[in-house]
Amino acid sequence: MHVRRKLVAGNWKMNGSLAALGELSAIAAAAKDAGGVDVAVCPPFTLIAPAVARSSGLVIGAQDCHFRESGAHTGNVSAPMLVEAGARLVIVGHSERRADQGETDALVRAKAEAALDHKLQTIVCVGESEAEREAGRALERVSAQLAGSIPDLRQDADLVVAYEPIWAIGTGRTATPADVAEMHAAIRRALAGRFGDAGGRVRVLYGGSVSPANAAELFAVADVDGALVGGASLTAAQFVPIVEAAARS
Ligand code: PEP
Repeated sequence: MHVRRKLVAGNWKMNGSLAALGELSAIAAAAKDAGGVDVAVCPPFTLIAPAVARSSGLVIGAQDCHFRESGAHTGNVSAPMLVEAGARLVIVGHSERRADQGETDALVRAKAEAALDHKLQTIVCVGESEAEREAGRALERVSAQLAGSIPDLRQDADLVVAYEPIWAIGTGRTATPADVAEMHAAIRRALAGRFGDAGGRVRVLYGGSVSPANAAELFAVADVDGALVGGASLTAAQFVPIVEAAARS
């Protein structure tokens, strides 16, 4: 039986500025108070190093990495570069990247492997579209993404799965607690089926319009080990109550 600490990770997407890093001190203070919860913020690449400098106690992460360490890949950033900038976590396979950059499961898996090679906590995102859910294919879609995107586990790896139904991201709509429970139980079964007992170490986050208003209800769902938060992570006023809800759960 594995005890999994809750993780609340903020994804700033293509938002933020040096001025916005002012939000981090209140978030770091809340993270310190919320002893049993891991808290991370993933700003754009350009803000990683200044964010690390301004937020002791907070994990600063990135929103993507390349699967190679270096080379002719214009515009990309590698896992060791993220480590050098002070990042300790990376999100891979976000649905916006799968859609905007055409990222496949195989590519996401390669990125996750590169991240784990460099000892980054690695959040792999999966989630179905609205059409897939309406067609009754949500479980099938997510299980295919898990099979294709999740790398093999290593001894000291901190691998995290984020279940993010695409139709709930940035829309203000969240999956019902019953739907979240069903999907998280299925993800947990898939992890146990593939990795046995070690699969119990992998945290499974929910993402999709998590807010101060719905966080407690979502954290109360079995098998929800935290949240990946987009819009509500941009300000301490919205993000801190979510961290506090995780601490209370
Ligand atoms: C996300 O970007 O991962 C996300 C869940 O966004 P939001 O919370 O804004 O729906």
